[in-house]
This record gives sequence, C-alpha cells and structure tokens, in this order.
Amino acid sequence: MANNFRNGSSHRSSLTKTDRPLSVNSNAKGAVKSKPLPASGLRKSSPASLGSAAAAAAAKDDAGVLGRVRVAVRLRSRNEEEMVADADFADCVELQPELKRLKLRKNNWDADTYEFDEVLTEFASQKRVYEVVAKPVVESVLDGYNGTIMAYGQTGTGKTYTLGRLGEEDKASRGIMVRAMEDILADVSLETDSLTVSYLQLYMETIQDLLDPSNDNISIVEDPKTGDVSLPGANVVEIRDQQSFMELLRIGEANRFAANTKLNTTSSRSHAILMVHVKRSVEGRDIAHSGENGNGTQMVKTLKPPIVRKGKLVVVDLAGSERIDKSGSEGHTLEEAKSINLSLSALGKCINALAEGSSHVPVRDSKLTRLLRDSFGGTARTSLVVTIGPSPRHRGETASTIMFGQRAMKVENMLKLKEEFDYKSLSRRLDIQLDKLIVENERKQKTFEDEIERITIEAQNRISEAERNYEDALEKERLKYQKDYMESIKKLEEKWILNQQKQGSERIMSGSKDYSSDVASNGKDSMASVVEELAEVKKLLLKETKSRKAAEGEVNNLKSQVAQWKRSEASGNTEILKLREMLEDETQQKNKLEGEIAILQSQLLQLSFEADETSKRLDRGGSANGPGSLDSLMTEVRNQQPKDSGNGEKASIAKLFEQVGLHKILSLLEAEDTDVQIHAVKVVANLASEELNQAKIVEAGGLSSLLMLLRTSEDETIHRVAAGAIANLAMNETNQELIMTQGGIRLLSMTAANAEDPQTLRMIAGAIANLCGNDKLQTKLRGEGGIKALLGMVRCGHPDVLAQVARGIANFAKCESRASTQGTKTGKSLLIEDGALSWIVQNANNGASIIRRHIELALCHLAQHEVNAKDMITGGALWELVRISQDCSREDIRTLAHRTLTSSPAFRAEISRLRIER
Ligand code: ADP
Ligand code: MG
Repeated sequence: MANNFRNGSSHRSSLTKTDRPLSVNSNAKGAVKSKPLPASGLRKSSPASLGSAAAAAAAKDDAGVLGRVRVAVRLRSRNEEEMVADADFADCVELQPELKRLKLRKNNWDADTYEFDEVLTEFASQKRVYEVVAKPVVESVLDGYNGTIMAYGQTGTGKTYTLGRLGEEDKASRGIMVRAMEDILADVSLETDSLTVSYLQLYMETIQDLLDPSNDNISIVEDPKTGDVSLPGANVVEIRDQQSFMELLRIGEANRFAANTKLNTTSSRSHAILMVHVKRSVEGRDIAHSGENGNGTQMVKTLKPPIVRKGKLVVVDLAGSERIDKSGSEGHTLEEAKSINLSLSALGKCINALAEGSSHVPVRDSKLTRLLRDSFGGTARTSLVVTIGPSPRHRGETASTIMFGQRAMKVENMLKLKEEFDYKSLSRRLDIQLDKLIVENERKQKTFEDEIERITIEAQNRISEAERNYEDALEKERLKYQKDYMESIKKLEEKWILNQQKQGSERIMSGSKDYSSDVASNGKDSMASVVEELAEVKKLLLKETKSRKAAEGEVNNLKSQVAQWKRSEASGNTEILKLREMLEDETQQKNKLEGEIAILQSQLLQLSFEADETSKRLDRGGSANGPGSLDSLMTEVRNQQPKDSGNGEKASIAKLFEQVGLHKILSLLEAEDTDVQIHAVKVVANLASEELNQAKIVEAGGLSSLLMLLRTSEDETIHRVAAGAIANLAMNETNQELIMTQGGIRLLSMTAANAEDPQTLRMIAGAIANLCGNDKLQTKLRGEGGIKALLGMVRCGHPDVLAQVARGIANFAKCESRASTQGTKTGKSLLIEDGALSWIVQNANNGASIIRRHIELALCHLAQHEVNAKDMITGGALWELVRISQDCSREDIRTLAHRTLTSSPAFRAEISRLRIER
C-alpha cells in the first residue's frame, strides 16, 4: 500500500508543481500544430479554468490530443448521525489540499497517502467544485468536443449533492448540472445553435426515460462507422432557457423517485444520466463572399463548406459504490443483486483494463460501459469526482472508492473535435450564388442593348436635325442676298434714268446763251451730281460689303455648327463602340464564370470525397494501421471500400457523381486549365479507389486518359494522383493486362525517372508492384523495363517507396517461383538478371519490418530454385538466408528459409564448406 503514493506521484510527474486546474493537459504533445479557436464568451472567468482554452485549441489537431481522465476527491463533513455515533473516533481521512494529497488512516500511527488532481475539503463551495471539476469540460463541449462529468462514491457521500442539486432555496448550493447549463446558455446563440437534453436512468441493465417513465426499454445504438453511441428511443427536449431546464430536472427527479418506489429500491441503486447535445455552426471562417466584388476566381480558391461542431456533455450520477448485500436483505434475489451491480462492476473492470493498458477492454459487458465508451479511453474530455465520507466505520468502502479514483487517473483519452462539413448548406449557397450571377448577367445584357439602341437613335436624330437647320439657313441667306441685290440694281437704274432726263431738258433750254459760259455752268452742275451719285454708290457698296461679311460670318458659324454636329456624331459612334466592347467583356466574363462553375462542381465532388476519406480515416483511427505497416497502400485502398452504403454522405457523393457523370469528369482530364485537370484527376482517383467504380472507369476509357496524363502532363501533382489511380486500377487482373498493352510500364518508368516527390514514386512503385504479381505478365513486364524502373526508384530512399519496391520484388519472385515449379520457366531469375540481387541483400535486414519481410520472402522464393543458387552465394544472399532461418520473427518465413537451405545441394555444400552453425 505504501507505494500507492509513489504510483500516483510518478503518474503526475509530468505536471508542474504549480496549482493547476483539472483541465490542463498534461501532455506536451498536445501543443503541436495548434490553431487558435475563436474565443468563447466563457473564457473570461476564474483562474481555475485558465489554460483550458489553450488545451482545447491544441486539441484542434485532427489526430486528437491525449487527455487524461482528471480526478478530484470530495470529502463530505460528518452528518448528524456520524457526529453522535462516531463521536469517540477520529475521522479516517485527512486532507492536504495544498499538496493535493489525501491520507487514509490505517490505525493510529500509520496511513496511506494518495495524490489526486484536486482535493476538495468539506469546506469547498459548490461554485469551486464546479469550476475545478466541470467548467473545463463544459468549455470543451462548447468548442465541439465530447465531455463527461461523473460522480462515484458510496451512497450518502454527496454524489447527487455535487451533481444534481437544484439550489432553488439557496443559490449557492446549485450543483454541476444547473451551473453547466447556465454557462452553456450564456455561450450559445439560440438563433444559430441547437441545444437539446435527454435525461435517463439505468437500473438492472434497463434504460428508462426519466422524462417519460413509460418509455422504459430504451436501446443503445452504435454507429458502426464512427463508434458513436446514441439512444434514438429517448426523449430529446430542446432547451431555450434556464427555467425550462430546471423544470426538466425537477420532472426527472420526481420520475426517478416514483420509478424507484415502484421497483422497491432506492435511487442509490440506479445510475442517472443527463445528456446535453450542443450543435453549433462555425461561421466566418474562409466563407466566400463573392458576387459583390465579382471576383469569381477568388471565390473558387477560398471555397469551403460551412462547418458544424457537435459537442455532447454527459453527466452521470452513478449508483452507490458500496457492495450490495448478496443475502438479498433488500428484498432482491441473488440474481437480481448481481444484475443491479453489473454495470458498476463492469465499469470498474474497464477502468482497470485501461489503467493497465490491457489489450482487451470489456466495454460490451454492460449498458453503462457501452454508454460511456467515449468517456473512458475514447475521445471525450472526462472529469471524475469521487465522493467520500469521514466516518471510520466505512473505511473499507472509502478505501475502495479512493482506489477507483486512483486507477481512473491512469486512463488516457484522445480528445477529438466533433466537426463536420455542412455540404447541404454549401450546395444551397452555391446554387443561390449561381442564380444571382445568372440574373445579374441577364439584366446587364438587356440594359446594355437598350442603351445602345437609345444612343443610336438619339445620334441619328441630332444629325438629321443639324442637316435640316443648315439647309434652311443657307436658303434664307441666299434669298436675302438676292433680294438686296435686286433692290440695289433697281435703285441704280432709277437714278440713272432720272439723271439722263435732267441733262436732256437743261441742254434744250440754254441753246442760245453764251456757249462757253453755258458749258462752264453746265459742266459745274453735272459734276456736282456725279460726285453726289458716286458718294451714294460708295455708300451702297459699303453696305453691301458689310452685309456680305455678316452673311459670311453666319455661314462660318453654321459650318462650325455642322462640324460640331459631325463631331458629336463621331463621339456617339465611339460610345457605341465602347458599349460593344463592354458587352464583349461581359460575354467573356460569363464564359469564365461558366468555367469556374465547372471547377466548383468538380471541387465540390473532390471535397465530398475528401470528407468521405477523412471520415473513413477517423473511422479507422487508432487501429494498428500505421503508415509503414504491411501493404499500407493496399490497406488504404481496401479501406476505401464503402462500409455502409446507406449513409448520407455516401449517397450525396453518388448523387453528385451521377449528376456530373463519369464522362464529363473524364473529359475534364483533358481540360486546358491545370487546376481543373488536378481536380478531375483527384475525383477519378477517388472513384478508382472503390472496386465498384473501377470497371466503369476502365470501360469509359478512364485508364487510357490516366495513362495519357502521365505522357502529356508536366505537373507533379497530376502525375502523383494519376499514378495512384492507376495503382488502384492495377489491382485487378484484367486491368493489369490493359495497362500492359497500353504501354503502361514504359509510361510509369518514364514518370518515375523524372519524379522527385516520394509520394509520386510510392504510387508508381505501388502500381508496378501490383503488376509484378500477375503470372502472365512476367516476361513482358521485365522486357519493358519494369524491374529496372523499380530498382531505379530506390534512389529516393523514402521508406514508403522502398516498401513498395520490396513488395514488387517479392510479388515477382513469387510468380517466378511458381512458374519454375510448374516447369513453365527455366533459367535464372529475371530479378537476378536485372541486377536486383545486390539491393535485395543490402536491404534484407532493413530496419523497417515491412521492407524486411517482403525481402525475406523474395529471398526464400529465389532460393527455392537451384539455378539461382550460385548467384545467391556469390552475392551474399546465403548469409541472409541463414540469418532469416535463425532470427526471423515470423515462424513461417523462418521455416521456409530453413527448408530451402536444407533442400538445396549447392547451399548445403557451401554451408558445410564454411562450417556455418545451423
Ligand atoms: P449520494 O448521492 O452520494 O447518495 P447525497 O448527495 O444524496 O449522496 O448526499 C447525502 C446527504 O448528505 C444529503 O442530505 C446531502 O444534502 C448531504 N451532503 C452531501 N454532501 C454534502 C456537502 N458537501 N455539504 C453539505 N451536505 C452534503
Ligand atoms: Mg444520490
């Protein structure tokens, strides 16, 4: 017993000495690859919950993080009866909360010491108990993890007080259930999140609904895919506020009391289980907002389906841990007594098995352990509070309660985020976006057409109006000048006639007068009138000139107006041109959008497949299938077979696949855009990983298209994914022959020669390794350089690649050996001919067991035929065979090696020559 403390202490050695809450993750690995999560409203509070957000953030890693079950011990003070009855005896426990230790007295001078994650004295408030035991778990649940809070202890030590107290009369005494719901309600948003509760009782392996007691045979359903347990028969009540939850707890409590009275037992014999489901949508993360900015490409790149997180909180008020009196004093038969205890003792056994790291955990032995499979050794964050009393009379029960707690502290869980993609809403969103774009596009096109028509008409109107104005003005001017001119002429004529008449009459009247004076005076008169006339003509001319100038100005003015009209007509034309260009741009944009929609569809397919794969990988999680394990490529492929064709995700992929159609996907392989090609080839590779689809793909020409990609594409991702798809298709004999006849080996060898990425090489090596296992193709495969290609890939040195190469060689050697035995092959092994032996010998003792095992097998196959013996001896293979026959961990290989060595005369001779001990 004395070393119990040491056990406890060594277990806690990774914790620092500072006072840390139960939530702090003791495992340093948890910090790897952490991504910050959005801060939740709850994070504000007590120092006790510090660090839990970081731990939860650390848990974001897909693979999960280690999270040990945290255990607190809570001591109840003496009750009245104990105060009287045990007045003369000291308490059997002593607490040292600052050291997180508890001493259990054996007698007056000796005690055992135990260490816990938290030691809560009889003075610990309910608030403090909530904060150290439950709050970190509640926060994890709000972040999308499963969580469990459980109380274990003897009847009367305070389990129900700790968990289930409603505290209506005294707020300070509110228990964990009530406080947990308060925190949850404060953090969720009821518009976007959903919050539901079920409340159950488990008694004698029967589950009864505490919210509907007539429903008393509820069965547990396990999802074979995820391992999640659920109770589809239980009432699920949506919670909208604290009052409705309190009401629900009251109803549950009353029903529990009534049911137990009817069964003639006490509630201390049954387990009460409260389940709270919190489903939250994660908004604002990489969600594309396109349309407003019209940046379609950006939209494609950041496209991610919205995410929902589903956390489940389970609060378990266990039955009393005391041993039931098997004599049946409570009125039960022995069988009943066993059944009453079954779940609790099964829980004890599971925790023992987990604490000891045993390979078998008897989870299926009881309903309770099936319900709690995620809580212990699963993916939930789990807190256990063990309750004890101080009375020395119950020392035995108290000791066993403490031991239960100590063992539970050794249980490691692997916390995992319960996050899913919400494809339905993504698809809905894409549909809406698409429709919006279509409407917008159509609307714009219409507006442009109308605008062009309007401008054209307006321009034509303006031009004809200008032409009309110009002609009118010209005509008016012409008429005016004509009139003016005629009038001037008329005036001049009149004047001239008048002058003529005047001169004639004057000449007649003065005929007898002095001619010379006559002439002189007459000359004077006519002179004056001519001058006068001249002045008048000049004046007229001046006027004429002026009005001509004005007319010219007017004409110029009109001309410039016409020019202006002409210019505006030209600018109207350029505007039309501009609009035309815009229209063309718009059409181009539309085409681009259509291309992007095609990418979106293929991406959506891809995302669906990836999610499918991820969920399958999660499904496999924890099974011994490490990346380097035997035939990892094949296992991967096999694991991709549908396990449950009825599930929704699968159906949605099938639907998408149907909608898009295989031919369309295959045609995308020839797209010009590399991105599209990559998406398409990924989709094809995913499809090819399922046996069901392989025939369809080959039939539709997919194999040829994939081989064509190896030939034509220069993109390494395309090479890698295409080779992976070919490797998958190459699992089937008919396809293997097709690959050969279509020159697949040469293409794969060529791709391998240029590839640098180990994963590409691994896929190619895997494909060739599959072909190596076909008896009919041996000669051809070798003739086209298959073995040389395999050997060439060892340059990369990556263990995954080497494993595939080794597998290929083992496959080849096996077929060869078979052919030799049947007499269809004579002569030395083609592997030896192609120089593989030295690599085989070098790697026969490779540190990676998977590589070693393939090579060991290959060596045994080669050694079975005497023709190979000489080369094997000179090449050093004999030594390896001797080693295999002595130390190989697999007995069948060891025996095979031994038998081979004994039956070959050449080996026997060499062994005895060298006097090797066998
Ligand atoms: P259990 O559920 O383990 O059988 P209960 O929670 O019913 O035990 O507690 C038994 C009695 O002890 C109840 O009357 C309860 O009020 C009282 N009690 C238990 N723990 C405490 C505590 N920490 N402080 C005060 N009273 C307590
Ligand atoms: Mg109780």
